[in-house]
Amino acid sequence: MSIGAGETDMAVSPAATAECAPPETAAPPACARVNLLGLPRAELERFCTALDSKPYRARQLMNWLYKRGCDRFEHMSDLARDFRAQLSARAELRLPEIVTVQSAGDGTRKWLLRADHAQAFEMVYIPESDRGTLCISSQVGCALDCAFCATAQQGFNRNLSTAEIVGQVWLANRELGFQPGGDRIITNVVLMGMGEPLANFRNVVPALRIFLDDLGFDLSRRRVTLSTSGLVPQIYRLAQEINVALAVSLHAPDDALRSQLVPINRLHPIAELLEACWHYIDEQNGRSVTFEYVMLDGVNDSPAQARALARLLAGRPAKVNLIPFNPFPGTQFRRSSDAVIEQFRDLLLRAGVMATVRRTRGEDIDAACGQLVGRVQDRTVVRLGSRVEAARARAGGVTA
Ligand code: SAH
Repeated sequence: MSIGAGETDMAVSPAATAECAPPETAAPPACARVNLLGLPRAELERFCTALDSKPYRARQLMNWLYKRGCDRFEHMSDLARDFRAQLSARAELRLPEIVTVQSAGDGTRKWLLRADHAQAFEMVYIPESDRGTLCISSQVGCALDCAFCATAQQGFNRNLSTAEIVGQVWLANRELGFQPGGDRIITNVVLMGMGEPLANFRNVVPALRIFLDDLGFDLSRRRVTLSTSGLVPQIYRLAQEINVALAVSLHAPDDALRSQLVPINRLHPIAELLEACWHYIDEQNGRSVTFEYVMLDGVNDSPAQARALARLLAGRPAKVNLIPFNPFPGTQFRRSSDAVIEQFRDLLLRAGVMATVRRTRGEDIDAACGQLVGRVQDRTVVRLGSRVEAARARAGGVTA
């Protein structure tokens, strides 16, 4: 089901809404080829019918595009020759362009993908013995302004299109050497890269459908995880639309602290957020919500805070994932020590709350949680402050 185009995607604070008002990807000119990547099954069927072809061609096309990772219409051997010629003339598979690739010592790989001449977004592949997780972005930048997140520092630039979201998984499969019929390389997809996925609802939900579709990437719903900072109305909408695993960035056990760390809390405080989470699990017949909790030294990591967190979550379908804070230039926060993190986890476990510590991966290439910034050029040159400085220097002949 598609979502009405007139809806706002940012039901957050008025300031954030103003900042994020509609810079959707511009519509292509009428003569442009249709990008088939990211078209939901029903729209692909309409496209095939419009080309005078049978709707079942859409199923064949999806099979080629997603199951076999094929991007050349002339190679799609079970499609009629005429239809392939029409496709070549009218359609294309437009992928995000790779700017750079970095590999970390632990096998983690990070790609910087072009959004425009100055901005980019990132995706990260994290290999483990029993799975391969791709962490993808949903926006260029982010408007939510969480105090401890590097992406927040750059502000919001634009929403990614469905094609750009789906394109990340397609591209990563190709980059990682996926072979049709071979083992899956990407077993899990997490929307934990740049951006707030629920603030880009209209483009994210169709992408999720393609991740789950058996003719799409055919991922299990438990292996596709959407992480949100807590956009409550959109959690209710998501519950009606699609069934994926939900992760929520909690980070504090009380409203006073959470409002400082995750400003969206001023609009949707903890009690409201937790209600939405329990509703989501009821509706989806899900197992549990994962609550992410970044461990900040001396800020949210005391035993009293662990006990307060346990009181919020004990007896509920919840598990806590403790994330050691990943520093970035300019931050005032520090990571809690390993001993403090372990103690915090043990207090939760003893109080009957399932808790794990997330292993930090890809730190040496700034690919860990909260370190993604989409840097194409040194952004100091595009910061307002530095422009003002430069203008002053020009006017007054000041030299540094
Ligand atoms: N906007 C979404 C998803 C992006 S971030 C959200 O807020 O959930 C994915 C996770 O990394 C979130 O839990 C986020 O709070 C956490 N995170 C952000 N910055 C971090 C940092 N510097 N160190 C560790 N975790 C961080």
